[in-house]
Amino acid sequence: MIIMKFGGTSVADAEAILRMMSIVEEKLNKQPIIVVSALSKVTDTLYKICDYAERCESIEALMLVEHLRERHKHVADGLIAANNPLHTSACQKIDELCNQLKKLVEVICDLEELSDRSRARIIATGEYLSSNLIAFALNAHHIHTHLLDARKIVLTDTNHLKGEPDLPRISEIAPKIIQQALYGMEQQPAQALITQGFVSATESGIPTVLGRGGSDYTAAILGMAVQAENIEIWTDVDGIHTADPRQVKNTLSLPEVSFEEAAEMAHFGAKVLHPSTIEPAVGQNIPITVLNSQNPSGPGTRILPNSSIPTGVKSLSCKEHILVINIFSTRKINASGFLSRIFELFSDHHLPIDLISTSEANVSITLSAEANIDRLLEDLATFAMVFVETNKSQLSIVGKEMALMPDLHTRIFQTLAQEKIYMISQGAGLNNLSLVIDRDRLNPVMNQLHHTLFYHEPCH
Ligand code: ADP
Ligand code: ASP
Ligand code: MG
Repeated sequence: MIIMKFGGTSVADAEAILRMMSIVEEKLNKQPIIVVSALSKVTDTLYKICDYAERCESIEALMLVEHLRERHKHVADGLIAANNPLHTSACQKIDELCNQLKKLVEVICDLEELSDRSRARIIATGEYLSSNLIAFALNAHHIHTHLLDARKIVLTDTNHLKGEPDLPRISEIAPKIIQQALYGMEQQPAQALITQGFVSATESGIPTVLGRGGSDYTAAILGMAVQAENIEIWTDVDGIHTADPRQVKNTLSLPEVSFEEAAEMAHFGAKVLHPSTIEPAVGQNIPITVLNSQNPSGPGTRILPNSSIPTGVKSLSCKEHILVINIFSTRKINASGFLSRIFELFSDHHLPIDLISTSEANVSITLSAEANIDRLLEDLATFAMVFVETNKSQLSIVGKEMALMPDLHTRIFQTLAQEKIYMISQGAGLNNLSLVIDRDRLNPVMNQLHHTLFYHEPCH
């Protein structure tokens, strides 16, 4: 079996879905499990619907629901001939899902309250719309496909918006559920299964989701659970590049990176893969390939075990908008007591620390600019002086054992000689170096550094 995951841009419209279907057709001999995201930007729209509903702006929310209905029906028109009964079935399913959404919006507006549990239900609708629509289209094109409900198999804890998957339990239940889904009520198995990325549930069936970009994670979880031969992540770029090609000029496609490098790139901000994706695949040594659905014969990137990958710098990642919290000890408190108190507070407020640098009486910590830090700051102020720097960006250089390259630091810091650097942090694994700079300098610095690292010969 193989897992084939198609992201939002790979299923954006009828043209993209037709391309996707011909990619799947080539792989039918491998019994693919297809994981689909919502059509491009649909999840953003569903978030907006939630926000409108929460503010009781029902007209705006319902208008967006109708847009979703029309868009999906328009795509159905482009995929399935109007006289095919599967066209009627697809439109009925779209109506059913959009009517459910409408009802939810009306209830939320009445109650004037939106729980995370209801939000998870609403934002999962995008993947239900896409997977149902594509299942009908595949069958209409004579690719015998069954639908598998991700909520039956991707089981998580009760964190509704960022569910933590129970990997051992998923592995235990997966073989039976997948066999049942493949056969359904028929004598012969289907040629392919299709399921929703991002969507999950608790063991008792309460809806959860895996967090933004979570469809990659679904692909890896299913890959692990069925011990897939390969996991293919189909997106809109020729694999993983030396930096985000939308942000940096002349990036290069990387033929191979290690699991560790890919995980670090994602952790440090490269949107091309969900940060947790690699973890379930690593244990089983399942190769992951990142491919371009708009250029299926293009190079792509294979993600392989560390031992088969050469050392050196591979990629630049960034987090465009972060803040730095500088904490100064005001009391005579020993350094370890001071640190443990700070860590405890970050944990109590569920704020994940990103970079950290310390001295005896001062700690600097970076966080996403979206983090709500008001209550943390109040608590910190009871034993420390705090100073927050906003409008900063974090830039990370990633590559296997790159810190051992003799001239790397010289090249990096020569390039950055004129820049204000607020924090520097090198990971213990010698695989990454992160810097905090002013946000308005991110773009030129990324481009300069990319040029130095990938277009200049090292100076020996
Ligand atoms: P999908 O909808 O297929 O999940 P995403 O938008 O989540 O696609 O991820 C693909 C995008 O990731 C690309 O369009 C690109 O802009 C961005 N990206 C960020 N860093 C990199 C990188 N190092 N290599 C390739 N793409 C990257
Ligand atoms: N549709 C979800 C999102 O936009 C999940 C995904 O695309 O991976 O975040
Ligand atoms: Mg993605």
